Amino acid sequence: MSMTNDLPLADSQQALMREQLQQLLQVRKQQDQEIQEQQRELARLRTREQTLQLQVSSLQAHLEHSSSEQSQTLQLAYDKLRTSEERLQRALDASGLLLWDWDVQNNQVYHSGADMLLGLDAVQAGRVLADLRPWVHPDDLSAVREAMTTHLRQQSSDYRVEYRIRHADGHWIWIEDRGQVISRNAAGRALRMLGTRRDITERRQHEENLQLASMVFETSNEAIMVMDADLHILTVNQVFVRSTGYAKGSEQQFGEHLYRALQQIGLEEIQHELNDKGSWHADVTGKRYSGGTFPLRLRLHAVRAHGSDELAYVVGFFSDLTQFRETQQRLEYLARHDELTGLPNRSLFRQRLQDASQQAGVTEEALALLHIDLDRFKLLNECFGTETGDEVLRIVGRRLQRFTSPQRSLARLGGNEFVMVVTEVGAQDELEALAENVLRVLRAPVVTAGEELLLSASIGISVGSGDDLDVHALLNTAGSALERAKYMGGNTWQLYRKDMLVDGGGVRLQLEQQLRRGLKEGHVQAHYQPKFCLKSNRVYGVEALARWYHPERGMISPVEFISLAEETGLIAELSEIILRQACTQGKAWLDAGIELQVAVNLSVQHLRQGNVLQLVCAVLEDSGLPAHLLELELTESQLLDGSERLLDTIADVRALGVQIAVDDFGTGYSSLGYLKQVPADSLKVDRSFIHDLSDNSQDAAITQAIITMAHGLNLKVVTEGVETQEQLDALRAMGCDAVQGYLIASPAPAAELQSVLLQGGNGLTGKPKGA
Ligand code: C2E
Ligand code: CA
Ligand code: CA
Repeated sequence: MSMTNDLPLADSQQALMREQLQQLLQVRKQQDQEIQEQQRELARLRTREQTLQLQVSSLQAHLEHSSSEQSQTLQLAYDKLRTSEERLQRALDASGLLLWDWDVQNNQVYHSGADMLLGLDAVQAGRVLADLRPWVHPDDLSAVREAMTTHLRQQSSDYRVEYRIRHADGHWIWIEDRGQVISRNAAGRALRMLGTRRDITERRQHEENLQLASMVFETSNEAIMVMDADLHILTVNQVFVRSTGYAKGSEQQFGEHLYRALQQIGLEEIQHELNDKGSWHADVTGKRYSGGTFPLRLRLHAVRAHGSDELAYVVGFFSDLTQFRETQQRLEYLARHDELTGLPNRSLFRQRLQDASQQAGVTEEALALLHIDLDRFKLLNECFGTETGDEVLRIVGRRLQRFTSPQRSLARLGGNEFVMVVTEVGAQDELEALAENVLRVLRAPVVTAGEELLLSASIGISVGSGDDLDVHALLNTAGSALERAKYMGGNTWQLYRKDMLVDGGGVRLQLEQQLRRGLKEGHVQAHYQPKFCLKSNRVYGVEALARWYHPERGMISPVEFISLAEETGLIAELSEIILRQACTQGKAWLDAGIELQVAVNLSVQHLRQGNVLQLVCAVLEDSGLPAHLLELELTESQLLDGSERLLDTIADVRALGVQIAVDDFGTGYSSLGYLKQVPADSLKVDRSFIHDLSDNSQDAAITQAIITMAHGLNLKVVTEGVETQEQLDALRAMGCDAVQGYLIASPAPAAELQSVLLQGGNGLTGKPKGA
């Protein structure tokens, strides 16, 4: 909000003008009296002059016949006449007045200095003065007529009017015209009129300026107070009345409060500055008539006495800052807070983080950052609409707020991302407990728009301390830890470790867009890898593995895009594509006389969505593949953090006749006890267990134990990643049921596997693939 300086300056001049106006009025009053006196004197002189002139003429007539005694009398009369004329002229010169003398009966005008007034020569002046009317400003003509007729009719004691008349140059000048009939006949008819004229153009302009100034004073949108040199209020304008509630006349009360406020700032200093610089300003507090206080921006301007440096008046201007302050506060709030949740936004967060890092540098205490991101939020937005999405974010914001304290500040970075800055971090397990609690609180069902929604979040944590704490690094590392938590399937937290890669979000976003398009355009295809039965020495099944043919980058590994699909909610679409392709392919093989079990990897993200059962039913029906020829692989870690509901879904699918395999066994918590509860048919031992299966090796001992126990649980055992004949032989000796790996065949498109499958894999076990 800007305050212009033009108005206050004009206003201070205007205050000056007000003061001048008062002086002027005083002067004019005096002048009026003087003029009236002079007029009377003039009339007297003119009459006397004429009497003398008459005397002179009669004397002259006598002269021809008279003696020298008479000529002396004549001389005396002449002298008297001259003296009176001189006196008259002097009086006229002093007053700036021009004299006119109108012989009404003969319509003859005597006018002194008409040439000076109107810029005319004597002859022209005579003509003009005989009839003024054509020269008077049309707007003023009626006023002139009116004034004259009223006086001639004896309805006014004197003739007085102000009007404009055209100067020989063409411009208008203001004239003040006054006069009086000095002789009338018995019937009251005017015979002679005497008067004065003068140029009042300058005075009129001055008055107009004053009028203008006074209008500005009253119509200004700032409150104005005219004060004396001691800062006591003399007069105020209408805005002042509106702003303060004090009526004109009771402004002193406001003034007293203001005076005390100025006293606190220092009256001497204020007056000093007014004297030195001519102005002073500050934000002070005013008191309204109602009793309430309000912030105001006050500017004082010095008005000096005429012709001196002395402070005569002080004009004060102020504007009520209440609304300005409120707007400012609101704007500040909006600029630093998130509208949806009311939490601090990214900009305020950055500042707080910066402050916290500086403080941490001083106190040498650790600072932690929890980057909290809701899992599958995009999907939620897509399924339930952004309104529900917004409501969920508000609820999440409120739930997270419960964790805030002077040591923990929360912000929303945008989208479904929140961040918590934790200062004075103690032990690491405190942070871990905090993260666990946050995850637990966010898992509580959210009820909105009649839906009960289950949420989960992922948290990336980074910790820093010391003087050289770098907030950018802290942010980036929390981001990397978050990525990691997402990669782990979400609903978990990760503390940053050095080996986590920092990923620029832009690349990921681009990849997401491309994957979305790739899925639509059929660039994601299933390859198949045979599973070889060690009892029958035949290929009994295949595992479908997703491949993405990227238009520019070529074939992309699922390691790179599965976690992305899981995070972005694209996993459901991807799963369905692979499931359909695999079932259709399985049915095609069956129709060609090759009975194979096709295995499809399922993601727990997809399973949690709860429509997997319907999907499997639909795909089996559409493809015509018998249920027992479909196997679904689920990783051990995914099953471990699964809820009751998840296990129920698996059981339902299994009830259709579909086989269930536990994938990557040994990489998670490897709880065989837990496996008892899992409705599964087979177990896939992770390839990390079979590096060295030579006699008495540790791997061999573990693998043997797994196989034995799995058999005890009635589970078939398949070992993954078998690359050598030695591995295969050892596994066969341990009683392993089946193997999968490059030794048998690498994953390949269905068409390329045709020959291998037709042979049933016979003879494959002896030669590693590609050899
Ligand atoms: P996985 O389910 O454990 O699949 C086996 C992985 O081991 C495959 O990697 C396969 O190419 C690789 N492999 C097979 N034989 C050998 C071997 O002899 N030696 C070695 N070193 N590796 C071998 P791939 O295809 O890159 O898939 C990686 C992971 O991606 C899979 O691990 C699976 O978890 C996931 N994935 C692949 N396709 C899908 C899918 O359609 N849906 C889901 N949800 N996940 C999938
Ligand atoms: Ca698998
Ligand atoms: Ca596996």
